[in-house]
Amino acid sequence: MRLDELGDWRRTHLSNEITPELASAEVTLMGSVVDVRDLGGIKFLILRDAGGTIQVTAPKAKTSRRILAKIDSLSKESSIAVRGKVVTAKQAPRGMEVVPTDIKLLNAAITPLPLDPTGRVKADLDTRLDSRLLDLRRPKTMAIFKIRHKVLQIVREFLVSKGFIEVNTPKIVATATESGAALFPISYFEREAFLGQSPQLYKEILTGCFDRVFEIGPIFRAEEHDTTRHLNEVTSVDIEAAFVTQEDVMRILEELIVRVFNRVKQRCAGELKVLKHDLKEPNPPFPRITYGEALKKLDDAGVKVPWGQDLPTPAERRLGELVGGTFFVVDWPTETKPFYIMPHKDDPKLCCAFDLMHEGLELASGGTRIHQEKLLIKQLRQKGLNPKRFESHLKNYRWGLPPHSGFGLGLDRLVMVLTGAKNIRECVLFPRDRRRLVP
Ligand code: ATP
Ligand code: MG
Repeated sequence: MRLDELGDWRRTHLSNEITPELASAEVTLMGSVVDVRDLGGIKFLILRDAGGTIQVTAPKAKTSRRILAKIDSLSKESSIAVRGKVVTAKQAPRGMEVVPTDIKLLNAAITPLPLDPTGRVKADLDTRLDSRLLDLRRPKTMAIFKIRHKVLQIVREFLVSKGFIEVNTPKIVATATESGAALFPISYFEREAFLGQSPQLYKEILTGCFDRVFEIGPIFRAEEHDTTRHLNEVTSVDIEAAFVTQEDVMRILEELIVRVFNRVKQRCAGELKVLKHDLKEPNPPFPRITYGEALKKLDDAGVKVPWGQDLPTPAERRLGELVGGTFFVVDWPTETKPFYIMPHKDDPKLCCAFDLMHEGLELASGGTRIHQEKLLIKQLRQKGLNPKRFESHLKNYRWGLPPHSGFGLGLDRLVMVLTGAKNIRECVLFPRDRRRLVP
């Protein structure tokens, strides 16, 4: 099939910008072919672009043979440009349609397609992820990523308004921050390096100059889990602030979560409707239960978790049912949390750490950090880590690093909750898990 050149054609409007005020105006639209139908005297073409869809209507009696033949030649999902006149039409899906004066086929899609982008034919998630571009043209998939985009905006707006500076720290690193086992090794010239599992140590150092920092970036976890809530590459919203404790960052997190739910509900009403998701806003203050209380509640419900263990996924789910909504778990055993978390002064078996849970899903972890070198070295040793390997980090503590606190919030999980997605893979453009490395 012969393709046309884009030439000097440029889009004048997106489909959702075609409003009654534009009646009789000439417009140029660009997008993909959703469908072509022939109803005897009229040919219909549905065009999709970033604004939605619009009907292009060609009455056979008034349209040139060349344009009619062109419409016939269009396969679904081909890339096209349509120039034409805007007409009000009660029977058209949006009350407006465009009568074409010229059409360009810019790139043709092959048939048959591996996936039906209208979403009418159901496809399993693996098939959808294999042909992600077509999947992303489905209204539901598109709605998830439009919400994700808004969430990023809202989070940035909020943190900047609270005096946080956005930073970017290296993702190629020499040492572990969470636990050594979960690292992806990479070859770095003549040495071994790793993909960063958290910006933790960098953001802590940066509180010593910027006071308050945040980073929205990838973290890599080499865990062999195969769940609907874990991936091996995720996006983390990390914050760290000087001269505050876990209490202060818990309040920031609470305010952030309430703000995100509220703004998404306001600004993404159309997307939530496409997803048929009734978003329930959490009410502050979020309840707090201690780790000990959580274990007791679980035990009463017949779920045994040994003291000192992180909550496994089934226990998290059960706890979510027992407590309900959005809540904090505080007073964790020091042994379950990373070395940089501050132990309680009067009871060092417990530490100043918290998890934020939403309906049985961990959204964030945070706490007060250790800012004294001696104590940090002690905690490193207690975790079986060699302080010598942390020398380049430890020296910062000799330069008056302030007391500080922070958290890491999983963006992909937050988007799951906001969109009602049951699988984290739905909320990541090109997810990375144990079996998936492409596309
Ligand atoms: P989990 O216990 O659920 O495996 P974690 O406690 O190991 O998570 P943290 O190190 O506390 O994770 O990371 C902070 C946040 O980043 C988590 O609360 C979660 O929202 C997100 N996160 C961490 N690891 C993953 C992962 N593998 N997949 C998806 N999100 C993750
Ligand atoms: Mg955690």
